[in-house]
Amino acid sequence: MTQKEVLKDRSMVLQKEMIARHFDRLEQAPANHEPVVYTFVPGNLTELIRSFGALPVLPEINALQAGMRKISGDFIAEAERAGHSEDVCAYVKCDLGMVKAGNISPAGTKLPKPDLLLLSYTGCYTFMKWFELLREEYDCPAVFFHVPYQGDGALEPEHRAYMIKQLKEQVIPALELATGRKYDEERLRHHLTLSARAEDDLVAVLQSAKQRPSPIDGYFGTVYYVGPIFSAFRGTEEGVEYYRALREEVEERAAAGLGPIVPDGSLDEQRYRLVVEGPPSWTHFRDFWKMFTDEKAVVVASTYTKVGGTYDFGFRHNPADPLGTLADYCSGCYTNLNLPSRIDMISNYIRDYEADGFVINSIKSCNSFSAGQLMILREVEKRTGVPGAFIESDLVDPRYFSHANIKNRLESYFQMLDSRRRGAGAPSAHAAAVA
Ligand code: SF4
Repeated sequence: MTQKEVLKDRSMVLQKEMIARHFDRLEQAPANHEPVVYTFVPGNLTELIRSFGALPVLPEINALQAGMRKISGDFIAEAERAGHSEDVCAYVKCDLGMVKAGNISPAGTKLPKPDLLLLSYTGCYTFMKWFELLREEYDCPAVFFHVPYQGDGALEPEHRAYMIKQLKEQVIPALELATGRKYDEERLRHHLTLSARAEDDLVAVLQSAKQRPSPIDGYFGTVYYVGPIFSAFRGTEEGVEYYRALREEVEERAAAGLGPIVPDGSLDEQRYRLVVEGPPSWTHFRDFWKMFTDEKAVVVASTYTKVGGTYDFGFRHNPADPLGTLADYCSGCYTNLNLPSRIDMISNYIRDYEADGFVINSIKSCNSFSAGQLMILREVEKRTGVPGAFIESDLVDPRYFSHANIKNRLESYFQMLDSRRRGAGAPSAHAAAVA
């Protein structure tokens, strides 16, 4: 085995092991009297939860993993039989179906009931309704942390003060009650210090995509890379170790001039560099990815990999200002940004990562992400002069992935990029995008 393979194995093995350990620990949590807090990825307060010695559970991660294992369709059908409409977010229905089926984790272990539902509200109304349903199911306490929407494109000082007040007066008391522990600011600072270290390494990995060839895929590969930091492992020693190993592995690939590992091997020859907006389809993840790699297209940056934090624009958790930094973090999550900020982000990625194009994957059941995407498409095209493609699928509902439609649309999009390169009377970007 070469040195490169050893390093690659190390980060993959580490991630697999740490997830398995976490699910084992969750299964044993009731017996070990370890409190459990359910929360969501955007605006998660993992360092605060950990500072109370509690273990986080992230329902949408469990739903997406069910999608990747192709078992989400049955859970969704179960939820629809129980009366949830076809239009409801598929994550919610998948999670509710999983709960009804015994709340078994993706690792096959039993998930414990929550001692607290901690809802950080970062722009998606569905999260609120989801936890209302779980509160009925578990008859457990819930606390609501309201993160003001960045309507004017920035976090206003009074909004920051409002969030810190809520943390002090509502969230921390709710955690004290649920866990039986007092708030310990030094412990919180410790976890925040670990977060910032892992965030530095993650950003180095994300920005490696500026190179040619890119040593990573900034969407399909990066959804794995952000997994630990978006879920239970931000602010932990395991998280720090994982991101150090990952960075070493990626830097080694970059130094060797190698592309990322993709479904068919190593994508060293890269014909198109793309930016992607929107979540992937988890039920057809590899199939979807292959539609890009078959054309030798690499994704150099994506917005979805920022739903749990926009670290590549400079934010780091700051242990010197423990509650203020949590407010800053929550406010900056991608789902909490207004449309002009999202347009800026995509346009900047196209410029900074020298992308040839961008693809919007519009998710049928995710109104939060999908609203305004056609306007985003037009604005980004106008501002950058780079053409976009618009496709539609769903997160974990397998009924809404049409292989032929998506493949046809992507193929014509790549043909258009080719003709633009040749400068031979390319069709207009918008015509291809909505064809
Ligand atoms: S609607 Fe979208 S953002 Fe909201 S919970 Fe569902 S997937 Fe997440």
